Amino acid sequence: MPQVRVRIAPSPTGVAHVGTAYVSLFNYAFAKQKNGKFILRVEDTDIRRNIKKAERIIFSALKWLGLEYDEGPDIGGPFSPYRQSERLDIYKRYVKTLLDQGRAYYCFCSPERLAAVRKRQQREKKPPMYDGCCRKMNVEEAEERVKAGQKHVVRLKVPTTGETKWDDLVRGQIIFQNATIGDFVILKSNGYPTYNFAVVVDDVEMEISHVVRAEEHISNTPKQLLLYEYLHKKAPKFGHLPLLRNKDRSKISKRKNPVSLMWYKEQGYLPEALLNFLALLGWSHPEGKDVFDLSEFIKCFTFERVSKTGPIFDLQKLDWLNGQYIRKLSIEDLTQRLRPFVPKNWDFDLVRKVVPLEQERLVLLSDFPRLAGFFFQESLEYNKDLLIQKGKTTKETKDLLSALSSQLSALSYQDWTADKLEEVGRRLVKKTDWSSRDLFMTLRVAVSGKTATPPLFETMEVLGKEKTLRRIKEAIENLS
Ligand code: GLU
Repeated sequence: MPQVRVRIAPSPTGVAHVGTAYVSLFNYAFAKQKNGKFILRVEDTDIRRNIKKAERIIFSALKWLGLEYDEGPDIGGPFSPYRQSERLDIYKRYVKTLLDQGRAYYCFCSPERLAAVRKRQQREKKPPMYDGCCRKMNVEEAEERVKAGQKHVVRLKVPTTGETKWDDLVRGQIIFQNATIGDFVILKSNGYPTYNFAVVVDDVEMEISHVVRAEEHISNTPKQLLLYEYLHKKAPKFGHLPLLRNKDRSKISKRKNPVSLMWYKEQGYLPEALLNFLALLGWSHPEGKDVFDLSEFIKCFTFERVSKTGPIFDLQKLDWLNGQYIRKLSIEDLTQRLRPFVPKNWDFDLVRKVVPLEQERLVLLSDFPRLAGFFFQESLEYNKDLLIQKGKTTKETKDLLSALSSQLSALSYQDWTADKLEEVGRRLVKKTDWSSRDLFMTLRVAVSGKTATPPLFETMEVLGKEKTLRRIKEAIENLS
């Protein structure tokens, strides 16, 4: 068996896209399962759309996700260069071969003529395609015109009869009638190759064994297969993944969903949760599991279990998964991952103590400052009415807080533990007509300014004696 070599070929035209992560994940998992290689090639031949920074963002997004590639523009490899704009000579060589063998021809048709042809075809309800005008021109004349500097492209001579088919790894047999393809451009007038041509040359040169990509490329595959045939090269196997979709089933778009991988990073999604989510979108676990890590995906992945219908991108599911993964992290790991989300002026020793209390409640890492802020604030701001429970007066509330304050001050620093604090609270419930629910709520608001916090007495233990007592005193003053 020849080595499995797969690749992704993103274009550096904007943000690092969640669709790129999705396709990368499937390629990566397949490569790892087969002890193969996963390659990154940058498709930067659309000069008008290239964005300088975009390439670096793709590199770092893949690294953040842990989908490390074995060969790529920034790390090199045996088939360098891995940027299409640096491979123009290679494409030209292949174009020449096809021209010499009469498989391709020069075309001098103007954009105006092509537009007129298209209009006529639309009127006649025919599929739009090149009408083959320059195909008939004799080679000497065409070469003369090229030499004279006339603007031209190069087109492939596509058969007008017969069919082109392949066994798709995901979808089974797919057949296209050659008559519906048309003589497509392989080399543009600016000397750059088209996507369909460059991708084949690169996949040939880089010895790609399997092309796994989004289903939007299905209609490109027959064109590419014809090129393999004309170049006398063995075609790789093709597998087309279902496209990620918005709720309304349209192709995933930034108007309806966050698509930038960096957004996910900045929100505090864990890469392992995002990968699990993306795997679940296009594939189902043989045991129906929802939560599985990358190594399990690598082990269990098969093309048979890739879904054929476009999965709906459901951020709520990702949030749920993210919470699951956060809960599985060790405290030390979670603390380190929270570091970029913690305001610089927060005492990091205190952060370490707070993390175990908040771990259960985090959905995103970026929730941490909002949830845990009260541990760090100098003074709390809240509506004092929250201190007063239903059926209680302001005076009763103040009296309770005073009683709490004196009981708690009596605890030594050493005894300032959740257990001892709870004893104090429960004793007071017995001695007064306050229910534990009401008493704990008043105390909770006094020490945190919030009605929902981690377990109250653990929270007070971490806050420490001084801060807790100071806050109770301030609550009493608030009520005066
Ligand atoms: N630039 C194309 C894309 O990212 C590559 C398609 C392919 O893998 O052939 O969709």
